Amino acid sequence: MGIDTTEQELGGLFTYEGTREVADRIQFIKECICGPPAYEADVESLDWYEEGRQIHVSQNAYFIDDEKTLLFDTLTPVGDRVVVERLEELLDGRDLDYLAISHPEANHAGNTWDILEAFPEATLVAPKRGSHHEMFEIDKDEDMLVEDGDTIDLGEREVEFLEPVFYDHAMTFWMRETTSDTLFTVDFMGFEHMDGECMQFADEMDSPVTSGRLERFNSYAFVWLRYADEDAVDDAIGRVLDLEPEIIAPAHGQVIRKDVDEHLELMRDAIHNFCDIDPETYHVHTHTMRAGRQVDVV
Ligand SMILES: [Zn+2]
Ligand SMILES: [Zn+2]
Repeated sequence: MGIDTTEQELGGLFTYEGTREVADRIQFIKECICGPPAYEADVESLDWYEEGRQIHVSQNAYFIDDEKTLLFDTLTPVGDRVVVERLEELLDGRDLDYLAISHPEANHAGNTWDILEAFPEATLVAPKRGSHHEMFEIDKDEDMLVEDGDTIDLGEREVEFLEPVFYDHAMTFWMRETTSDTLFTVDFMGFEHMDGECMQFADEMDSPVTSGRLERFNSYAFVWLRYADEDAVDDAIGRVLDLEPEIIAPAHGQVIRKDVDEHLELMRDAIHNFCDIDPETYHVHTHTMRAGRQVDVV
């Protein structure tokens, strides 16, 4: 399976965990954010948490190895040396052809310049939408700005860039690899895991993926969803289902390669749960859910 569990401490909160094959010629490169301070509250009432274990949030980059090679996202700046070294191993002397950045946030795009310096032949691929392209120092002659439906032919495989069904940022794109039907949903469908589960797929974990578990992460990443209309949410989940993904590969969760539709239904329940809440008390709800106990907010 190409699992490499060599751990390299990145210092403090961050641990480099390794790489693993998600589908033929697609690998994730993973670091974990271990027990961020916001998560240190009493979490024992969570329906998936086992007492005494540490809670992690994944940070995944994805590498596609075909006649042309592509990296989707860059890990956090803390992992700059690690991601370059790991890419050198994965490429084994070949060029990195494309570096696709899902959106310009530090934990997704933070190593863009280190990677382009190490692999200067790579074409930077960024979303066309938005007006902050100076963040990437886009060179319009050399870089690619893509929009919904644009594709890159990698050889046997093709990737397609999609407008996100659920936006976490105005300049985010999703990506789909059309041979394995892997859908890279960036922040959408993220969820935490416990130590020991870092390299596992969702179906391999001891603890279940529940709607509460999805809600805990996604209600923070998609705060605006609290104002969403429930019918519009159903419609949007339907549009993700219509893409017929075989595998969901999120940036901050474990890869879902079984029962994808059921996981999307759990996500629908999760969103309904928090878009149902009276906006006046929403902050109490999210803090309580986060802490795993009732929080009084004055
Ligand atoms: Zn993110
Ligand atoms: Zn982990």
